[in-house]
Amino acid sequence: MSARREVRLRRRQRVAEGDRPVAHGTWAGYLTDKCRCELCRAFRSAYMKDYRARKAAARP
Ligand SMILES: [Zn+2]
Repeated sequence: MSARREVRLRRRQRVAEGDRPVAHGTWAGYLTDKCRCELCRAFRSAYMKDYRARKAAARP
């Protein structure tokens, strides 16, 4: 539990240090980098809206 949290903290630190740019507005930014900026949240809400619509359409 704590080890996993440590990995996440370390990753955030690396991103903050500019080791790798966060791809905002993508799944990579939202999931991998755990970014919750406006772009990343907008991407997720758009994705979830689409996902729900597709799921509803698949239902009989
Ligand atoms: Zn972002």
